[in-house]
Amino acid sequence: MLTQHNKQGNCLCGATRISVKTMSVNFGACHCDMCLKWAGGPLLAVDCGSDVSFEGTENITAFSSSDWAERGFCNKCGSHLFYRLKENNQYFANSNLKCNRC
Ligand SMILES: [Zn+2]
Ligand SMILES: [Zn+2]
Repeated sequence: MLTQHNKQGNCLCGATRISVKTMSVNFGACHCDMCLKWAGGPLLAVDCGSDVSFEGTENITAFSSSDWAERGFCNKCGSHLFYRLKENNQYFANSNLKCNRC
């Protein structure tokens, strides 16, 4: 379930910023082979729906990791920003967004 949140997160170097309007109250952890390679461990991400915007887009590279999804990261510092399902433009933001209860 998505709830209304205005949350922002930065990459490590500050060259990119992600802003979300909605997000799930729960984080997910994925241990699939691709996430383990990408994240260097379980991928921690939160469903943010599709109302997501970015600053510093020239510093964001999206890697198409499969036919159905891509993974975005800061091309200056390498911080992971999102996993996106292409078909419905659904974003899962990485754990640089803190949940409201933290
Ligand atoms: Zn960065
Ligand atoms: Zn995975």
